[in-house]
Amino acid sequence: MLEIKDLYASVQGKEILKGLSLKIGAGEVHAIMGPNGAGKSTTSYALAGREGYDVTSGSVTFKGEDLLALKAEERAAKGLFLAFQYPLEIPGVSNLTFLKTAVNSQARLRGEADLDAVQFLKFVRTTAKTLNVSEDMLKRPLNVGFSGGEKKRNEVLQMAMLKPSLAILDETDSGLDIDALKVVAEGVNALRAPDRSFLVITHYQRLLDYIVPDFVHVLAGGRIVRSGDKSLALLLEEQGYEALTEKAA
Ligand code: ADP
Ligand code: MG
Ligand code: MG
Repeated sequence: MLEIKDLYASVQGKEILKGLSLKIGAGEVHAIMGPNGAGKSTTSYALAGREGYDVTSGSVTFKGEDLLALKAEERAAKGLFLAFQYPLEIPGVSNLTFLKTAVNSQARLRGEADLDAVQFLKFVRTTAKTLNVSEDMLKRPLNVGFSGGEKKRNEVLQMAMLKPSLAILDETDSGLDIDALKVVAEGVNALRAPDRSFLVITHYQRLLDYIVPDFVHVLAGGRIVRSGDKSLALLLEEQGYEALTEKAA
């Protein structure tokens, strides 16, 4: 699904990723954990193609294609999805309009037909229900006045509607109480499939009790310093990042 080889990336001239390598197979769930400032969000932005996140060397292959040669919207249309750590508020654009535009523009980029209004409404209402996203949240301007937890649930709603091949969740658990965390985890687990992979970025072990990863990686200093199975997350919780990353260094 995804192969990152020796990736270096800079933000405003500052080198943040320094030789990051990671391979994600189809259907696998990988977790990246790491201290604040390690480069977790930078990794997700570099993969999604966010402006200002400059890849200076290394390669990324996504479903056999050179990901870095594609524009952000082309990456999305090919099935790459990013749930933001800090979802943006967009006044004047309703959540429904946003979702419909996203779903249909991706379909168009793939050469598929648009959903009509009736099909779309049926799809969005059914999906929203499973994620406890209210009718009111669908009608309001995108994320405006949403609580932290509502914003994160709304990110997962976007994911469920876009049905990506690779979903990157950047600290989707931050700001969630335990009930919302379970709703989000159930939403993610319901989408697990042999042809869909997940990269779950989190600071805390707790989320991984609900979304059980196949592999856990520790990101520190801009590269993966340690990889293991889900027990590595528990070890991190027990010993802290510092102890583990010092050992690795
Ligand atoms: P994490 O998500 O692991 O907490 P980030 O990827 O957000 O870490 O940040 C990694 C480093 O890059 C930090 O030192 C951060 O200050 C810096 N950084 C990230 N984005 C920017 C930016 N837009 N401008 C300047 N520095 C940035
Ligand atoms: Mg951070
Ligand atoms: Mg971050």
